[in-house]
Amino acid sequence: MNVWLTKSLFTFESQTMRYTIYQRQTGGKTMIRYVCEHCDNLACDTSVCPVCGQRTVVKGTSVFWCDSCQIPCFDETCGICGRKTRKIGSDIRPVFPEEKLLFGILLGEPEVFLKKSVWSMGGDFFIIDGVTRRFSLGEFEKKDPKEIRKELGNFADKIDKLSVGFTDSESIRKFTAANGSRLARITDEAESYIRSASKGYLPSSMFVSFSGGKDSTITSDLVRKALGTESVIHIFGDTTLEFPSTHDYLGRFRRTHPTTPVLTARNCDQDFDDLCLKIGPPSRVLRWCCTVFKTGTITKTIEGTFGDQRSVLAFFGLRRLESLARGKYDRDTDSSKIKRQVVASPIIDWTGFDDWLYLLSNRLDFNDAYRRGYSRVGCWCCPNNSNWSSYLSSIYLPDEYDKFQSILYNFAKSVGKPDWEEYVDKGMWKARQGGNGLALSKNTVVSFKPCAFDKRALNFDLSSPIEERLYTLFKPFGTIDKEIGNKMLGEVYVLNPATKQPTLLLSGRIGSKILKVTIISWPSKAKSFRASQQLISDQITKFQTCIACGACQSVCRQGAIFVNKTKEDATNCGVSYSIDSAKCVHCLECVTHFDSGCYMKKVLRIKNGTKV
Ligand code: SF4
Ligand code: SF4
Ligand code: SF4
Ligand SMILES: [Zn+2]
Ligand SMILES: [Zn+2]
Repeated sequence: MNVWLTKSLFTFESQTMRYTIYQRQTGGKTMIRYVCEHCDNLACDTSVCPVCGQRTVVKGTSVFWCDSCQIPCFDETCGICGRKTRKIGSDIRPVFPEEKLLFGILLGEPEVFLKKSVWSMGGDFFIIDGVTRRFSLGEFEKKDPKEIRKELGNFADKIDKLSVGFTDSESIRKFTAANGSRLARITDEAESYIRSASKGYLPSSMFVSFSGGKDSTITSDLVRKALGTESVIHIFGDTTLEFPSTHDYLGRFRRTHPTTPVLTARNCDQDFDDLCLKIGPPSRVLRWCCTVFKTGTITKTIEGTFGDQRSVLAFFGLRRLESLARGKYDRDTDSSKIKRQVVASPIIDWTGFDDWLYLLSNRLDFNDAYRRGYSRVGCWCCPNNSNWSSYLSSIYLPDEYDKFQSILYNFAKSVGKPDWEEYVDKGMWKARQGGNGLALSKNTVVSFKPCAFDKRALNFDLSSPIEERLYTLFKPFGTIDKEIGNKMLGEVYVLNPATKQPTLLLSGRIGSKILKVTIISWPSKAKSFRASQQLISDQITKFQTCIACGACQSVCRQGAIFVNKTKEDATNCGVSYSIDSAKCVHCLECVTHFDSGCYMKKVLRIKNGTKV
C-alpha cells in the first residue's frame, strides 16, 4: 500500500472539540478499484493504466465509516482519530435538514432526525448516527403530497436556520477534515488535467457546459481555478423543464461571478407541452426533448458564440460512476453530437462522495434541489427520473406536477388508451415506444411506386404539398438547377457536384402532392439503384416529418444546415429548412445519420408501418 501521509498535518477546532489530523492515508487508492484488462487485470490507481496507457475499468468503489467520529471516510483508516473504519457501501451523500424533516414527517415524528447525522447510501438505505437503516421509499410515496407539503410549511423557519448552519455543523466539519488528503489528491489531478487539456486553446475558444447541477458546479469551479480566470464562457442549456431552484441558483451564480459570461441556450421556437400532444411525451427510449431542447439548441449557441473557430473545447461535468451508460465515456472525446467540439471531463472518475467533499470543503453554493433530496438535478419531469424524484416533485412543485399529469392524461386518452389513468399513474408512459395513435405518425410512411414507363423513375405520393423546402432537401445530392428543366412540368435537376452532369430529375409542381424522381445516375455514396432509392426516400421522410427538431443541424460538420420553426399557414407546415450551398460538401451525413433520414421517424414510428 502506498502510504503517503504519516505525520501531523493540521489542527482545527469546532465549538466543542479540537482535532489534530495526523493519520496515515492512502489518498483514496482504496476507494475506487481499477484493473487493466489489457494487462492481465493489473490493479491500477487511476483510470489510465500506467503500463499500457489504455483505459482501465472500475471494479468497485468503497466508502468507509468511522464509528468513533461518526463520519464517512474514503479510507480504511479514519483521517481524524486514526482508528480502523468499516466499509458501509459504494457511495454516499449527505442528507440535508430539509430532507431529514421530510423523512421525519413521513414517519410521523417530524423532528426525529434533525439533530442526527444522516447520510444516504442510495435507494432505500441510509446511515443514521452510524446505524444503517432502510426506509421504504415506495411506501412513503403512497402518502398524500398535499398533507406532507402542509406539514413541511410548519417548520419552514426552523429548517432555514438549520440549513444555513449545515456546512458548519460538527458532522460536516469532521467529514471535510477527515478526508482532506482525498480532496487534495482529486483536486490536484483534476486541475492539472484541465491545464493540459486546454493547451493550445485560448480562453475565448473554451466553455463550461453548465447545467446548474452539482457536477457542473464543481467543473466550473475547477476550471476557473485551474486556469486562473473567471472569464471562461459558461453555456447553460435551458431545456425549459428545469427545476425552479436551478434558475434561482443560476441567478445567484451570476451575481457571485459577475465577470463569468453565462449564456443561456434555450429553444424558444418549440413548446414542450405542445410537442407532447403532437409527438407524445418523452419516454425512456424516446428522449426527443434532449434533441429538441438540448442538442440542437446548444449547437446553435455554440455556432453563434464561437463562429468559425476551428475547434472548441468544452468542459463537461460527466462522471462515469453516475450511470452504466456513462461508464463507457472517454475522458476526452470529439463530440459525436455536436460538431467541432472537443469534450474534456475533469471529474470523470469522481464518486458522489468526492462531489460532496469538494462542494462542502470549498463552501460552494449549489442547487437547493439537493437539499430536498433529489439525487439528480436535470429536467424535473424526465422519464428517467426515479419514482422518488417524481414524488418529491408532487410535494415541492405542485403546479408543474399537476400540469404535466394532465398532459399525460390527455395524451393517453387521445391515443385511445382504455386504461389511461392507470397508464399514467403507474408510469407506463415512460416505457412508450413509437407513435401509435398519433396523427403525425402517418407522415413517417413514405409511399412510392416505380414508374410504369421509366424504370429509373419513382412516383412518390406525398403527405403534404410540394414547397420550396423539398428542393432544399436535395442539395446534399448536388447543385439544384431550376433553369434547364421544363418549368411547365415543374422539372428541377440535381447536378452531380463533381461532374456538373444531371444526377436526379425532380418533376412535380409546387402545391402538388405527386413527385416523380428520375435517378439518372446514382448519387455519390450510393452503390446501387436500391441504395439511391433509399437515400431519396430518406429526404422525403424529412420533408414529410420535419418538425424542426434541430437534429439535422447538429450533424452537419460544415455548419451548412439551418432549421427553424416558423409560423404555420396554408402554404407551409411551419418549418424553415435551409442548406448553405457554399458550405455543403455533399458528404450525405445529414441524409444517412438517422434511421430513415429523420430523427422524428424513430419517435413517431408506428407498428406495421412501411419501412423504407
Ligand atoms: S426530460 Fe429527460 S429526456 Fe427530456 S430533455 Fe430533459 S433530460 Fe432529456
Ligand atoms: S428533418 Fe427530422 S431530424 Fe432533421 S430537423 Fe427536421 S425533424 Fe429534426
Ligand atoms: S451534412 Fe452538411 S455538408 Fe454533408 S451533405 Fe448534409 S448539409 Fe451537406
Ligand atoms: Zn494496461
Ligand atoms: Zn475517526
